[in-house]
Amino acid sequence: MDARRTTVRDMRRANRSLLLTRIWLDGPLSRHELGQSTALSLASVSNLVGEMIAEGIVEEAGSVDSDGGRPRVLLRVAPGYGYLVGADVGETRVQVELFDLAMTALAKAEYPIAAAEPDPQRVAEHLLHGLTAVVEQAGIDPGAVLGFGVAVSGTVERTADAVVHAQTLGWEGVPLGAMLRSGTDIPVHLDNGAKTLGQAEMWFGAGRGSRHAVIALVGSGIGASVVADGVGYRGAHSSAGEWGHTTIVYGGRRCRCGNLGCLEAYVGAEGVLDRFRLANRGRPVAGGDEESAFSELLRSSSRTAAKVLDETVGYLGAGVATLVNLFNPERVVLGGWAGLALGERYLPQIRAATARHALRQPYAQTSIELCQLGPDAVAMGAATLPMARLLRDGGVPRVPGVARETATPPRQARRPRSRTR
Ligand SMILES: [Zn+2]
Repeated sequence: MDARRTTVRDMRRANRSLLLTRIWLDGPLSRHELGQSTALSLASVSNLVGEMIAEGIVEEAGSVDSDGGRPRVLLRVAPGYGYLVGADVGETRVQVELFDLAMTALAKAEYPIAAAEPDPQRVAEHLLHGLTAVVEQAGIDPGAVLGFGVAVSGTVERTADAVVHAQTLGWEGVPLGAMLRSGTDIPVHLDNGAKTLGQAEMWFGAGRGSRHAVIALVGSGIGASVVADGVGYRGAHSSAGEWGHTTIVYGGRRCRCGNLGCLEAYVGAEGVLDRFRLANRGRPVAGGDEESAFSELLRSSSRTAAKVLDETVGYLGAGVATLVNLFNPERVVLGGWAGLALGERYLPQIRAATARHALRQPYAQTSIELCQLGPDAVAMGAATLPMARLLRDGGVPRVPGVARETATPPRQARRPRSRTR
């Protein structure tokens, strides 16, 4: 393969990726606006957009008047060009949802999982069953599904098998990616749930517009997604962001991970409810499951509840201060079902507690906000995995089993004139 041709083709793909990303995140946009926001020449924009319209991935969406000139045609990503499936492997259920490219949910399937340490084989079966179920429900061709994104707790190694290490689930090196791929031809993408929800908040939630952010998620457990200069920070083997297992009390309470004094053991919903029980002479909060018990605790007028919640806010603030000191984010976005419940009631107190524990300057430069996509957005977050792939590839389809070069329409290689910078 001619090296120069490859370079031109890569450049073309990179420019398509740039345009498609802008259109998808900020659209509808005119060609003129695309030229301005990407610094590509208007000729390049028109050429590449024309190609994407011909392929059906981009479509016209009305027009706006320009100053005295011809009306400008607006462009958007065609919602029905393809579909995305996202799945949330939660602690009590597996949820699978199907979306169009406008992220409108079209179908949903849910499977309860009872065991504290769910069997990976069962979880894989639920996921594959859910994938088939939502495709059938939506009445679409399985070939139109661009990818299946799966969010799990724990660390997902970016290897071919997508190996999951989830100490709190009792999963040690589960090759979940390989298990799913053996059951479907649809491309499978796996990642940690905090990272995928973080991606969704950065794209269309409270993180929008910032380049340095931490999305801090508090549920039964605790996770975080660190975004540095617009890119998710993963560390050497993808385990970065395990904020819940940073020590907040040396030699403190036993955490689900087995260590002592982790933030999760104090601020995670399970830890908070257990701290209340101990402070309440062994009597737990009334209420069925963890979520209803937690909201019962928030509603309670007892002095014990007030004391436990006050301490919870303090621990949470100290934990957020660690994020502020370590990462110097513009924004800390607090979410997860318990994080939102706490934040809706105590956000000023959480900010004050963070201020008490953080260095003054980085604290003054950061804002603490609540997630905007709600606590149930994990499946949508998972669907951002195949979407990110589509945007990165500039919408150039990959034919399964065909090498990258031959999957690209040959026309592109013969047109090395795109003026790019
Ligand atoms: Zn821990």
